[in-house]
Amino acid sequence: MNYICVECHTTYPLESNKWKCECGGLLNLEYEKKAVDFTETATSRNHSLWKYVDALPFEKDDVWQEITLGEGDTPIIKIAENVYAKADYYMPTLSFKDRGAVLLIAMAKKLGIKRVVADSSGNAGTAITAIAAYGARAGIQCDIFVPASTSSKKIAQIEAHGAAIHKVPGTREDTASAAIAMVKSTESFYASHIYNPIFWEGTKTYVYEVFEQMNNNMPDAFIVPVGNGTLLMGAYIAFQELVANGQIEKMPRILAVQAEACAPIMKAFAGGQDTVEPIEHTGTLAEGIAIAAPARGTEILQAIRATEGDIIGVSEESIIEARKQLALKGIYVEITSAANYAGYLQYMEKYPELKDQQIVFPLCGAGLKSN
Ligand SMILES: *Cc1c(COP(=O)(O)O)cnc(C)c1O
Ligand SMILES: [Zn+2]
Repeated sequence: MNYICVECHTTYPLESNKWKCECGGLLNLEYEKKAVDFTETATSRNHSLWKYVDALPFEKDDVWQEITLGEGDTPIIKIAENVYAKADYYMPTLSFKDRGAVLLIAMAKKLGIKRVVADSSGNAGTAITAIAAYGARAGIQCDIFVPASTSSKKIAQIEAHGAAIHKVPGTREDTASAAIAMVKSTESFYASHIYNPIFWEGTKTYVYEVFEQMNNNMPDAFIVPVGNGTLLMGAYIAFQELVANGQIEKMPRILAVQAEACAPIMKAFAGGQDTVEPIEHTGTLAEGIAIAAPARGTEILQAIRATEGDIIGVSEESIIEARKQLALKGIYVEITSAANYAGYLQYMEKYPELKDQQIVFPLCGAGLKSN
């Protein structure tokens, strides 16, 4: 198993702790993949994402068994005819980030790593909370870098897991630079959900689960929120694997959603560009997807286009209204998650033919995580 550069295809063993190629290119993961036997998983007694271990970079009998907190195998809820919500707030740290975090930390454990570095990509800090939780579970020391402006409530949760917090004055970029400086100086494992492709090995299980829950069928389209695109990239990898294994004939469409107030990828897509320019933004309530300079922009654009998908921006008002509407259906989600339902409603107007098609959107995070 190797990291492989998306630009020049140089490979690096995982033990190298590389997080970027010498050429500056980002890294993907390369290993021999096995197909999941869905007849076997359908009756598995393992009710977590680990029932798909055949498709993951681990053995059946491996370190993940000591680290799992039961993440994954989340319910899907019927919202209307042909429309389903996948409730990823049923997770140990209340968001889908646990899918990626458990894979990252389990791999670090497998590699014999004692200490990892991570940083917050946005205000929500959901990924680092998950990393800190699984780090505690695995007995791995986490050094977590956050902007100095991060709320004390979030910091308290991360510290409760025993992680060392490093508060960095300045911007989110300053925080990332400080984390990277420590990764370099200590040659640590960078448990980054943006740079480390092992994270997507976890998020891809979202699609494996949906496929099984829909009786070994794919919906026609997946509504996917995009900040850094970790759920989107995971979903796309799963589509490619299922096609390669002959388990589906064609990929479902990725219908991506950004907050209109912070939509660099939508802008690039609409402009027909192949790369994403960072934007200035005025802020959005959907802080979990407020990523002005997504590192994986090029790959995200490719994935959307490869599935004949689309990407739209939703307004602040529509996010608030969607959250209200979901709550009136008994579903209380994080504000960021409401963007997905707002996106679904907007897509139904944009493509009326969707009403005869099966659609799944995610409930990414629990309502109590937002103020
Ligand atoms: C992280 C997060 C997202 C966005 O995920 P990306 O991987 O950044 O695209 C969406 N919703 C919630 C609730 C999140 O925590
Ligand atoms: Zn390279």
